[in-house]
Amino acid sequence: MSTKKAVCSVAPLALRIVAECPVSKARACDLRLPHCTVNTPVFMPVGTQGTMKGITVDQLEDLGCQICLGNTYHLGMRPGPELIEKVNGLHGFMNWKRNLLTDSGGFQMVSLVELSEVSEEGVRFRSPYDGKEILLTPEQSIAIQNSLGSDIMMQLDDVVSSTVTGPRVEEAMKRSIRWLDRCIAANKNPDRQNLFAIIQGGLNAELRKACLDEMTKRDVPGFAIGGLSGGEEKDDFWKMVTLSTDHLPREKPRYLMGVGYAVDLVVCVALGCDMFDCVFPTRTARFGSALVPWGSLQIKQKQFAKDFQPIDPDCQCATCRRHSRTYLHALFKTDTAAMHHITIHNIAYQLTLMRSVRQSIIEQRFPEFVRQFMRRMFPLREQYPAWAVEALASVNITLD
Ligand SMILES: [Zn+2]
Repeated sequence: MSTKKAVCSVAPLALRIVAECPVSKARACDLRLPHCTVNTPVFMPVGTQGTMKGITVDQLEDLGCQICLGNTYHLGMRPGPELIEKVNGLHGFMNWKRNLLTDSGGFQMVSLVELSEVSEEGVRFRSPYDGKEILLTPEQSIAIQNSLGSDIMMQLDDVVSSTVTGPRVEEAMKRSIRWLDRCIAANKNPDRQNLFAIIQGGLNAELRKACLDEMTKRDVPGFAIGGLSGGEEKDDFWKMVTLSTDHLPREKPRYLMGVGYAVDLVVCVALGCDMFDCVFPTRTARFGSALVPWGSLQIKQKQFAKDFQPIDPDCQCATCRRHSRTYLHALFKTDTAAMHHITIHNIAYQLTLMRSVRQSIIEQRFPEFVRQFMRRMFPLREQYPAWAVEALASVNITLD
C-alpha cells in the first residue's frame, strides 16, 4: 500500500471558536490547517509566482504570517504544475512551511486577459505568454491546485463584475453552483486539501440568498464571499456581506475575498467574517504609501525629507526599528529597496491590526476597540464614512 495515501485520517480543517463578541457578529477562532493553526480574524498577504513581491518567506515568517496566497493563474502557466509537483508542491517551491491558499485561476483570467469567454464547460482564454488558446475547466483548476498542494483551494466560479446587473448575474450564480459540484468531485486530496465554495449573486439579495441556500447544502470545509470589492457602492457591499454571514454555518470559516483597507477589515470582522486577502497593502507600498493607524504616509512627499521618526513610532517591524522616514524618502529616489522596506511595514501593519482585533474580541472589548480605531483613523466625527457607521450600527456598535 502506498504510504502517501495512508497518512491522513483526520479532517484537514477544524475550526474552534475561541470567543464571540456579545454585541456584534465578530468572533475569534483557531483554524487548524495542515501546516499550522491560523488565528482569526486573519489577513492573508498575496504572493505572485511563489514569491511575495518585495518580501522573502523568511521575513513573512518573522512577521508571524500563518497563511498566505499563491497565485494559481501565474503558477499554472510558469513554471507549470508538473514542475511544481516535482518539488513537493508550492510549499517546496517557495520553501514556505506554513499554510497556503490558492485561487482557482478564473478571476485572474477574467480580469487580466481581454479575450476570455465563459461557457458551461469552463473559461476559454488566450495565453498571454504564447498566444495559445486554453480552456480552464473546474476539473483542471482543481487538478492544478492539487499539484500545487495548497492547504485551501478555491472553486472555479463564474465571475461577473459586481456592477453588472440583469440575467447574467443569475446565470453566473447558478453556474457557480454547478461548477462547485464539479470541483468537489475533481478533488483528489480531500484528506489534505480543503476546497472552499464561493458565494455569488452580485448585489441582488434574492440571488445571494438562493446561492447561500444551495451551496451550504454541500459539506465543504469553508465558504468565501465572492463577487464584491469590484467598484460597487459601499452600501451595497456591506449589506451583501452581512446577508452572507447571517446564512453561513457558524462552525465553518468565512472568507471575504479582495478586502484589505483597514476600515473595511474592522467593519467586516464586526459583520462576522474571519479571513481576508487583498493586494492593496503590498501594491500601495510600491508607490511609496506606508499604512499607519491614522491613514497613510506618502513617503515620497517633501515633508518627510527631514523627518527622523520611523514610519510609525509604535510599530515593531524591522523597517520601523531600523529606518527613519527621511532615510526611506531619500532611498525611494534611487533604490527599489525602499519599496521592500515599506512592503514589510505594510504587511506588519495589517497583521498587527488583525491581532489587536482578535485580542479585543477575546477580552470582550471589541466594540470599544472599534470606537478607538475609528477615532484614530478619522480625527473628526464628520469624516466617518456613512456606510461604516450604518454597517456597525446594524450589529449594535454605535460610534461616539
Ligand atoms: Zn513598521
